[in-house]
Amino acid sequence: MTRKPRIATVSLAGCFGCHMSFLDIDERLLELVERVEFDRSPLTDIKGVGPCDIGLIEGGLCNAENIEVLRAFRAQCKILVAVGACAITGGLPAMRNHLDTAQLLSDVYHGDVPNDPELPLVLNQVHPIHEVVKVDFSLPGCPPPADAFWQLITAVLDGREPQLSPGAIRYD
Ligand code: SF4
Repeated sequence: MTRKPRIATVSLAGCFGCHMSFLDIDERLLELVERVEFDRSPLTDIKGVGPCDIGLIEGGLCNAENIEVLRAFRAQCKILVAVGACAITGGLPAMRNHLDTAQLLSDVYHGDVPNDPELPLVLNQVHPIHEVVKVDFSLPGCPPPADAFWQLITAVLDGREPQLSPGAIRYD
């Protein structure tokens, strides 16, 4: 029996809104599970990502752990898709980029900034993922509409070059 393609998803500095939009393909999820297996994703309880054909990643890079997770995910995925404004440009979290990070942390924690070595190191700026790894496709939007996920995933599964319809391309 031929192996079904595997899909995995990961969230970095994001809000899981892109994941929610992916789930908004609704009943088409049933069609999708006929064609693919899900690795780590909102549809499984798998914690670690294994080798995958399509990796969907939401969120940008705001700390050292994000970079580690991104590199490990890239290494496992044949095709990596930057999902949403945060992954593509840094998005909303990058609004802090014009502020002083040390001052910001001090303000948020009222001068008592946690410094446990277990905590991931905060980056001075929030970065998009393409600055660290190769990205194969991008789905713009905050979040991208469900149809954009559907059009991209089915095109890749069919061996077609993904072409998003005008209504599936969002920049808000
Ligand atoms: Fe959330 Fe928008 Fe970022 Fe997606 S792009 S993770 S919906 S803030």
